[in-house]
Amino acid sequence: MNIGITALTSAAALALGLGLSADCARGDDAPSGKPVRVLIITGDTHPAHNWKATTPAIADVLTQGNRIEVVATSTPTRDLTDENLAKYDVLLLNYLDFKKPTESPETTWTDANKAAFLKAVREDGKGLVLLHHASGSFARPSWAEFEQAAGGWRPKRGNHGPAHEFTVKKTAEGQSHPIGSGAPDEFPHLTDELYQNCVVPEGATVLATAYSDPSKPQGSGKNEAVIWANPFGKGRVFDDLLGHDVAAIADPGAATWLRRGVLWAAKGEVPAEVK
Ligand SMILES: [Zn+2]
Repeated sequence: MNIGITALTSAAALALGLGLSADCARGDDAPSGKPVRVLIITGDTHPAHNWKATTPAIADVLTQGNRIEVVATSTPTRDLTDENLAKYDVLLLNYLDFKKPTESPETTWTDANKAAFLKAVREDGKGLVLLHHASGSFARPSWAEFEQAAGGWRPKRGNHGPAHEFTVKKTAEGQSHPIGSGAPDEFPHLTDELYQNCVVPEGATVLATAYSDPSKPQGSGKNEAVIWANPFGKGRVFDDLLGHDVAAIADPGAATWLRRGVLWAAKGEVPAEVK
């Protein structure tokens, strides 16, 4: 993979540039205990989502606090194997299957890749985190197991108006959930796309919503689910619809939710002090 390491500044990002053979990114002042190992799966080129910019931004958010190690792959066809996925606790998708297979052979998951991915989460109990546009993956045609795990943008479901500032509010269920208990009750989110009318999987717990102002273009007038948690087999799925670009990902309130969501996906619990 080539993620453009000259543009990256942090230790986390440098590890990304070295790909799967690299030592993971983690600071020297890590808390005691084994760090959570996250594999960011990315690489598909969608015109609205620049993975080469957002992947290091995600890594920077996750490695703050030194509880999480990050490695990224931009060649999922090579790296979504039973042997490789066994190295990680959480798989994070910064990915949307956008290109046709003939255009992007290294990013178009094969049936074997999908089988390894499903086994890792559903049978081996690894965490799965979907960030923003990843919730629209595998919708055309719909991959039933992915939809069951993640929900999100599905056929005739999912849209957004122009990006704008909006408030993200924790739900009552979010308050009592391990992720939400340490997350802000609400925060003013920087300019971002407010995804709406998405599918929330049956059995999921909606942790946070945002009101889609009907006075704005395409505003739904509803409190839209933007963050939820969902059990899937032995695994745990954290779906976060925020994070269109680097600024939205780095927004402190959104970053706290993402860090806590990743830790929960890995272990089912989150230390209270993680912000
Ligand atoms: Zn977007």
